[in-house]
Amino acid sequence: MMRILALQALLWLPLLVPIGSAAERGEYRVTFSDAQRRTVRVEADLAVDGRTLLVSPIGANDFEAGWAHWIKDLAVTDPDGKPVRVDHRGRGKYRLRDRARRVHLSYEVRLDHEDHEWPFGLDEATYLRDDCTYVATQTLFLAPPNLERALVRFELPDDWIVSTSWEPAPAAEDADAGLNEERYVVRSFEQLTRACLLVGEHSEERVRAAGVEVLLAVGDDLRDSTPRMVQTLEAALYEATVLFGGDAPGQRYIVVANMADYSGGAGHVGGMSMVFAQPPSAADATWAHVCLHELLHMWIGVAIRRANSEAEWFQEGVTDYLAMMLLARAGIADEGTLLEMLGRSYGNYALRAGRRSLASAGRDKAAETGLLYGGGLYMGLLLDVEIRSGSRGRHSIQDLLQILYIQFGNSDEAYTSLEVAGIASDLAGRDVGKLFDRYVEGSLRIPVAAYLRRLGLALEADGIAPHPGSTETQERLRSAIFGS
Ligand SMILES: [Zn+2]
Repeated sequence: MMRILALQALLWLPLLVPIGSAAERGEYRVTFSDAQRRTVRVEADLAVDGRTLLVSPIGANDFEAGWAHWIKDLAVTDPDGKPVRVDHRGRGKYRLRDRARRVHLSYEVRLDHEDHEWPFGLDEATYLRDDCTYVATQTLFLAPPNLERALVRFELPDDWIVSTSWEPAPAAEDADAGLNEERYVVRSFEQLTRACLLVGEHSEERVRAAGVEVLLAVGDDLRDSTPRMVQTLEAALYEATVLFGGDAPGQRYIVVANMADYSGGAGHVGGMSMVFAQPPSAADATWAHVCLHELLHMWIGVAIRRANSEAEWFQEGVTDYLAMMLLARAGIADEGTLLEMLGRSYGNYALRAGRRSLASAGRDKAAETGLLYGGGLYMGLLLDVEIRSGSRGRHSIQDLLQILYIQFGNSDEAYTSLEVAGIASDLAGRDVGKLFDRYVEGSLRIPVAAYLRRLGLALEADGIAPHPGSTETQERLRSAIFGS
């Protein structure tokens, strides 16, 4: 996630007929209404192995009930319509008091997220615009944690569409011609509860880049920016795929974008959401940096997961370092722009550095963005420089990423800072563990000026500039990292 500044009774059809094959583990019917746009009705038929139903445990940390804060009037019944008793155990985790193999859920989700404070912005949650509703699916779905497959049916007002990266499901044979319905298949709890959707009368554009089908869904006031965003996405996706060895973790991806009173972005499973205070322009590469950062979460954050918050500096900060590197490689930002961005990150880091370790800052992400993003960025630079110089230019941070992707990508195993240090040491041909002891586990300041100097850059009072006395070796290293 990233933030630049500071961030009915509907058509209720009581006869929900379960359809689909026996392999279907569940079916959701989600009904949006034009007249009551802040209420979404959800009906679900689910097979349950255990006794637990839950919402996504990730996010909404300021709410006692987690994402269940927005779930109203939950009713659970068995296939005969008999009530099944449930206890809410907190943070959106429910336990069925009565045993049932199949349950029917019925609830409403109230979309009033805009009435609350969101430390990382509303693009992490849900918001409404005149022509569309943005939904982070954390807020929509209650499901068994071991969900293997579900059919999600959206019932929509006329002329509305759902933009999603989920796989479309064939229309039902007995589909009601008068109903505006869209159907999708999801294959895990994570995919169901960590996606993002744009629902309404907005516009869509499909792009194919680096083997990935990207759906760009934007609100009306960003329609004119679509060509610029498409161009940036194509270049960014190409560079990111090369960085990780030529292979994207998914085949379908969605980018949702709208105007807002702040700029920021959030990474989701199978997509990202962005908001802009100003429409994307060529003169300002900040939005492209956000776009690249969130795109990189497709790998770091979603496919390659960290084991604990002590590695948050890597997930967010190293991602920021890579995003800057790719901005240069894709020809989106020139050297002046990059140095300005690097200087800003250093400023944010310097304000908080030396007080606590990067590892411990991961537990207080909202309060420690300067340390995690800025410090993590400069740890990324440190690792890249150490690997490149230790291996005499044979390896770089790119090899580290590809090893992480092979070792941890799309698996249940997650990496720790210690494992990153181990891989980096192997690649550098020397032990970088003591650098981790000092700057990740310990609270010493990363010697940023010394590492910038190795790239022929000088850290000055008003920012970062090329060092007038830099050597050819230093300039070669700089162009290897931040060259186009
Ligand atoms: Zn992020």
